[in-house]
Amino acid sequence: MSLSAKISCENDYDPNALSVDRARALILAQLSPIQASERVALRSALGRVLANDVLAPCNVPAHDNSAMDGFALRFSDLSTAGPTRLQLVGTALAGQMFAGTVGSGECVRIMTGALPPPGTDTVVIQEVAQSDGDFVLIPPGQRPGQNIRRAGEDLKLGTAALTAGKLVRPAELGLMASLGFAEVSVKRRLRVAFFSTGDELCSIGSPLAEGEVYDSNRYTLYGMLTRLGCDVLDLGVIRDDPALIKTAFREAAASADVVITSGGVSVGEADFVKQLMEQMGEVLFWKIAMKPGRPMAFGRIGEGENGAWLFGLPGNPVAVMATFYQFVRDALYKLMGADPIPAVPLLTVTCASALKKFAGRTEFQRGVLALQDGQWQVHATGAQGSGILRSMSDANCLIVLEQDRGNIAAGETVQVQLFDGLV
Ligand code: AMP
Ligand code: MG
Repeated sequence: MSLSAKISCENDYDPNALSVDRARALILAQLSPIQASERVALRSALGRVLANDVLAPCNVPAHDNSAMDGFALRFSDLSTAGPTRLQLVGTALAGQMFAGTVGSGECVRIMTGALPPPGTDTVVIQEVAQSDGDFVLIPPGQRPGQNIRRAGEDLKLGTAALTAGKLVRPAELGLMASLGFAEVSVKRRLRVAFFSTGDELCSIGSPLAEGEVYDSNRYTLYGMLTRLGCDVLDLGVIRDDPALIKTAFREAAASADVVITSGGVSVGEADFVKQLMEQMGEVLFWKIAMKPGRPMAFGRIGEGENGAWLFGLPGNPVAVMATFYQFVRDALYKLMGADPIPAVPLLTVTCASALKKFAGRTEFQRGVLALQDGQWQVHATGAQGSGILRSMSDANCLIVLEQDRGNIAAGETVQVQLFDGLV
């Protein structure tokens, strides 16, 4: 079934007033993850998606070991009535075992991470024990087996330490290193081609002629795609010339999994970009009930091996970023095989400024989330025009104003999406 037929069967599908959530769900429902994978050195897996489950090849920890600095002893030696006096016969250090067996009435000094010597089954922390020359006094009230981390208590041999689809962050690098993996299988990188359309666009490095604007969208796209770990193919600025646009689309679709364009999807202006998209593939044009970012195209262009998913983003610089963050990000994660797709948390905070908002569309205003008298509060960055990229740079979050909401008074709660998280 064709893409348009599949999507138009959906209940209440209206390409002229699609909600943000609906558009996101419709896009995700069409996509399946790429299959190809490659083996890479552990460090190179950072930011990539695991192609297979990672099974623990050993127990973690590999051996029982002490959780504390203290004394390793035999629990059965301890009196419940009063202190027990044990002879200190040696020391066990992490990485340096005590050579020998601990007999009845004896104990060894043990450090965190050291293996409890044969014969011992319990560790008593040094803070409660009393040294007495070659002897140690252990108070009553100990539990058998206390303060010993058991082999396999973190991960059992053969169990999945990580599952396919996991996005590798620093914790996963460390975890895989703790299992001894020098190489891992990850999904191949997604290839994303992009170009800007518009006769008014000038590339950086050339002087700006009358009526021209510098093309900034390719740089924000480059930044966002690179941070997502995609291989990027920058096809430059394409003039509003059907032959040139056609060639760019063909080249992009043949060499990439996804093609992203900016500009030329609004009604009237540069209409042949839209016509060419339709001609060269199956592209749906949506008016999304959102601001910024109302017009957007989604679909496929090209055939088979030479085909690619297409996102025709609006031209306004802020709209490019807003639509990328709300739709393209999750779509690319899905194609990359990330499962689950890393969620962007929506935080509920107090809005310190009054905001103008039209009911009937989701608005993404640029905000600064800051600590005010011990409370996180957000305020808008000022002018919210779709072309004002400065407002994105001043902001550290998007204020997400739900579709049904109208004006927001200062002091109301709103939801925000942070631009950055932990490293
Ligand atoms: P369009 O969607 O093509 O009608 O473009 C909407 C607005 O965004 C126009 O003011 C364009 O000049 C501007 N614009 C389009 N593409 C870019 C770009 N690549 N970089 C900066 N501004 C752009
Ligand atoms: Mg244009």
